Amino acid sequence: MRLLDEILQHNKHFVEEKSYEQYSTDKYPDKKLVILTCMDTRLLELLPKAINVGNGDVKIVKNAGALVSHPFGSIMRSLLVAVYQLQAEEILVIGHHDCGMSGLKADSVLDKMKERGITDETFQMLEYSGIDVNEWLKGFNHVSESVAHSVKMIKKHPLLPKDVPVHGLVINPKTGALDLVENGYEN
Ligand SMILES: [Zn+2]
Repeated sequence: MRLLDEILQHNKHFVEEKSYEQYSTDKYPDKKLVILTCMDTRLLELLPKAINVGNGDVKIVKNAGALVSHPFGSIMRSLLVAVYQLQAEEILVIGHHDCGMSGLKADSVLDKMKERGITDETFQMLEYSGIDVNEWLKGFNHVSESVAHSVKMIKKHPLLPKDVPVHGLVINPKTGALDLVENGYEN
């Protein structure tokens, strides 16, 4: 059975058996918190357990690296929607050690794209269109610096209310231990 079929089959049972009942909640985060973190697989269950949040407690926005790359991209929009529409009162950015975006070299990704059939003409076309793919794919060197940068991008955003604390943390993807990078109550 292929993956999608497995998912659909499981889902049918899940709904039939009313397994959803234990997750019943609403769209407003009980802890009035929105978290930006990485899509890393190790954090899927570890992160919520390590910070004691469950279904209904928080909003979680994820991407590769917990990065805010653009002040008017979809990550920042999600955070603002959480604050203005969904009652989030604090923002937490959580990066992690051993992140796939740490030390990511755009060249390595570009080589793989070429191997998978993306042509030089496509890259030229993007270049002519003013898109710097290398810059766009670039990762970061130090996770704590990256978290501090994301916190700053969010905190300084012209559309974020000044009274919203923005915290920065780095999590160990094995132990769940947190290191504090920015305490949002202090700035
Ligand atoms: Zn990561």
